Amino acid sequence: MTSVVVKDVSLSFGAYDVLKQLNLDVPEGEFLVLLGPSGCGKSTLLNCIAGLLDVSDGQIFIKGKNVTWEEPKDRGIGMVFQSYALYPQMTVEGNLSFGLKTAGMARDEISTRVARASEILQIEPLLKRKPAALSGGQRQRVAIGRALVRDVDVFLFDEPLSNLDAKLRSELRVEIKRLHQKLANTMIYVTHDQIEAMTLADRIAVMKGGVIQQLDAPQVIYNKPVNRFVAGFLGSPG
Ligand code: ADP
Ligand code: MG
Repeated sequence: MTSVVVKDVSLSFGAYDVLKQLNLDVPEGEFLVLLGPSGCGKSTLLNCIAGLLDVSDGQIFIKGKNVTWEEPKDRGIGMVFQSYALYPQMTVEGNLSFGLKTAGMARDEISTRVARASEILQIEPLLKRKPAALSGGQRQRVAIGRALVRDVDVFLFDEPLSNLDAKLRSELRVEIKRLHQKLANTMIYVTHDQIEAMTLADRIAVMKGGVIQQLDAPQVIYNKPVNRFVAGFLGSPG
């Protein structure tokens, strides 16, 4: 069963074509990495899947349903950004529960979900703190927690580790991998970092200029790049 399908999607800003008839099929439960240099259209593609940007042409399906014109909140996706986008005036607990409250969920259900997410992400001791009192890594865990409590089908990550130092980056990378193994849901993860892509991905889609150049398992991309761009970008031998 496919989880996310992007079908012939194009997106232009004025005369500038950012995505060019792009196609992508992500099976249920896959960890797919979108890898490519800055400006190649990774965030734009993710925002189209999330419904934060309207496509100029083409369609997006999630779990077989055409969501091209659905509101972001109705797509069953959770998005984690590079900047944590937490509410500064709320505690961690408030940040985790806010979306559920506004959706009218019962109190008990909210507490259960917040408890489960904070256990999985090991942020229980932080629940009463405000974002300003957290480290970058802790904030990013809370940002992931906000997607987790919503029990979404698909996680979208846009360079979630770029603002962290090298040590925290590798720690959180392991954490995200563990989360994927535990939840077994679909994750689409944007990065320009080859090491992140190689260590996290079931498959990597290498993008350049609004087009996917190659979509394969990390080892295949590395050992059998389809063109010089992919080889150069991955640092493949030969
Ligand atoms: P990436 O995430 O791969 O770095 P983006 O998807 O953010 O790339 O951007 C792709 C291209 O589209 C870039 O050249 C960027 O300047 C351009 N772009 C992004 N958003 C807008 C916008 N709102 N208006 C005009 N151009 C944009
Ligand atoms: Mg980007």
